[in-house]
Amino acid sequence: MGRPKKITPAVEKAPLRLPGTFDVLPEQQAAFHSFMDRFLNLASTFGYTRIDTPMVEDARLFKFWQQAATGEQLLTLNTAAREHVWAVKPTNIFGLVRAYLEHRYFEREKVSKWFYASPVMYISKGALRQGDELGFQIFGETAPIADAQIINLVMKLFHEVGLNNLSLEINNIGCLECLPPYQEVLKSYFKEKKYDLCENCVELVDTNPVAIFACTNISCSTVAAEAPVLVDYLCENCRHHFIGVLEGLDELGMPYNLNQKVIGKPWSRRTIFEIRYKGEQGDLTLGTGGHADDLIQSLGGTPASALGFNTSMETVLNALNLANLKFTHKTRSEVFLVPLGDLAAKKTLRLFSDLWSHNIAASEFIGPGSIKTQLKLAESSKVSIALIIGQKEAREGTVILRDVRSGMQELFTIERIIEEVKKRLGR
Ligand SMILES: [Zn+2]
Ligand SMILES: [Zn+2]
Repeated sequence: MGRPKKITPAVEKAPLRLPGTFDVLPEQQAAFHSFMDRFLNLASTFGYTRIDTPMVEDARLFKFWQQAATGEQLLTLNTAAREHVWAVKPTNIFGLVRAYLEHRYFEREKVSKWFYASPVMYISKGALRQGDELGFQIFGETAPIADAQIINLVMKLFHEVGLNNLSLEINNIGCLECLPPYQEVLKSYFKEKKYDLCENCVELVDTNPVAIFACTNISCSTVAAEAPVLVDYLCENCRHHFIGVLEGLDELGMPYNLNQKVIGKPWSRRTIFEIRYKGEQGDLTLGTGGHADDLIQSLGGTPASALGFNTSMETVLNALNLANLKFTHKTRSEVFLVPLGDLAAKKTLRLFSDLWSHNIAASEFIGPGSIKTQLKLAESSKVSIALIIGQKEAREGTVILRDVRSGMQELFTIERIIEEVKKRLGR
């Protein structure tokens, strides 16, 4: 038996990350953690519990998404031997509905309130699009007040992380009773103005005329501004619902803009809203929320309402960056360990654990370093105590305690050091 010639497969040069994907580097994590802290805190205050669904699902789950997608495709897995195609989730809501039905939450509780933070991926115009979606989702019968409450929650979330200058753009897209007749009204309106619409919108006239409202082309916007508005065509239930939501917002003292350009996804129903951040360097939509009330039924469940909001890690990081907000990692360490030499390094391993078991967090410089370098690090990490162990101390079982600010040093036996550190930390 000969030895394998090469046990490490090698490529000339590590390939770069794929277009459309991204790294979130350690220096970007403080900002995101700060956001997530508030996200988790508010989720629990408002009574949401976490749910995680798999990355990959049976592709049939995403039929609605596929029908609605323009220029976007599912990322499917090679499935020659399988009966059904597998697909990476392009967004979370479909997996959430599947879990709601599969685990029969509709029988277990009147209302399910969930939050999630989970990666999504799909193909857009031939390139990968990666995202880390996070949001809130409610399934079950809810009153209009629930819409106002979820808006309240997400506005609080963005405010608390330091984003001001937010605007709430709200619309009502109707339901299966009032939306189709309105689409007909729109169709005939836009047909007459066909020559003023962009190429893209001309195609939408017959298939999804409501989507023309979202077009940013000036000519299309001018035509759309004169179009009949859905609010005038809402059925009695939708009208009642919308008034309830707006009254809820008034009660909360929350300003909003009625904006018929906000149309949501093809599965959006009734309330649909966007939270926008208005920065000096431009605007950014922080996230979209609203109802998707036919989704449960479209996946075989008994009709139930679905209300949610979602954003993504990339959007949040972009906004925090645009707002020029700075975040730093909170270091918890109170003591810095400074070993000099191999024997001392071994002793600090033990000392680290002893401190830890007394609930004192220590940090240290990993790797060889002179006393000067290590003490500098101690200073920059803002701890008040450095514990120095040199060769002599390591052999004699002693530790030098140094007050980092004053530079005063004192020698203690290793048995006494924990008590002394505790005393100095005021424990
Ligand atoms: Zn309706
Ligand atoms: Zn257009």
